[in-house]
Amino acid sequence: MDPTSSGSKAEPSAALVDTFGRTITYLRVSVTDRCDLRCVYCMSEQMSFLPKRDLLSLDELDRLCSAFVRRGIRKIRLTGGEPLVRRNVMDLFRKLSRHLESGALTELTLTTNGTQLAKHACELAALGVRRVNVSLDSLDEDRYRQITRWGDLKATLKGLDEAQAAGLSVKLNVVALRGVNEDELEDLLLFAHRRNADMTLIESMPMGDIGVHRADQYLPLSIVRARLMSRFTFDEDDFSTGGPARYVLVRETGRRLGFITPLTHNFCESCNRVRVSCTGTIYSCLGQDNAFDLRGPLRADPTDRLLQHTIDAAILDKPRGHDFVIDRRLSDPSISRHMNVTGG
Ligand code: SAM
Ligand code: SF4
Repeated sequence: MDPTSSGSKAEPSAALVDTFGRTITYLRVSVTDRCDLRCVYCMSEQMSFLPKRDLLSLDELDRLCSAFVRRGIRKIRLTGGEPLVRRNVMDLFRKLSRHLESGALTELTLTTNGTQLAKHACELAALGVRRVNVSLDSLDEDRYRQITRWGDLKATLKGLDEAQAAGLSVKLNVVALRGVNEDELEDLLLFAHRRNADMTLIESMPMGDIGVHRADQYLPLSIVRARLMSRFTFDEDDFSTGGPARYVLVRETGRRLGFITPLTHNFCESCNRVRVSCTGTIYSCLGQDNAFDLRGPLRADPTDRLLQHTIDAAILDKPRGHDFVIDRRLSDPSISRHMNVTGG
């Protein structure tokens, strides 16, 4: 669809509401597709990355995010790839923090593998970032290296320490991997909760070719939950961070455990988010290919009018939900793009 001829009547300040009545208030922006790690469930060993010239500049990312803020986006998460390896990414945090000061944004946050977090934690906290999601799939140095292909666990643990010392609230993201870290999930939960961090378990999603069949690493969280319940008591909790996780309160530790279960339980009916890649492509659903280019409109029209019309077109095109399937009989992943394009 050509957004210039869509006949959209939306005012530049109108809320973003899709055809299923869901109001979009949460934007995730992948600021780079590059990463200093190669987690086995996220990337193949030989990844090719986008030429840097294709990326939106930090000023353009600011303009794009600000256009969304004018349309009622209340929460922005910077992600990647690894957001903290994007050169001068702190400039973008600095720029976007003005929307926290004005009250237009309620939250500016990031998802990170933690390797560079020690360097940036204090400034992030000073800029108004309150919470950070840190991905950590093992506490064993060798296993951590095996999962990330060359990561150093110590660097990520230092990042965690510095983030907490700076006053950031930390949530650990743990992808449950069959035969890889499934024996460690209880320890990871205790590790997180003992250091006053919540934890979210994530089902491995069939995104991008990773060189092995997804079925080999997929561990349904229904199984993990049942196992953990033989040791812990879960009280249902209607807490929400605005993301897809469903939470329980762990009675023995007094902290939360989240479950992101796109495969075993679809959460699309309450979806409030869209994602933009580092080249300015908007994906209205993580698990579908619906996409619109925002870079062209952003560059073609300094008034942002064309950009706003294209955002409207993308929101109207947001599908009802995803169709992730992991099936041994299927050789291709459900979605051909890797997770680093949209950042999860
Ligand atoms: N590099 C940062 C990190 O690892 O936190 C941010 C980007 S990463 C793509 C965002 C989250 O997606 C991480 O928690 C990661 O574990 C998760 N992830 C990556 N690929 C995934 C997949 N195929 N299925 C489920 N989660 C995945
Ligand atoms: Fe990098 Fe994050 Fe993907 Fe791991 S999950 S390879 S840290 S982008």
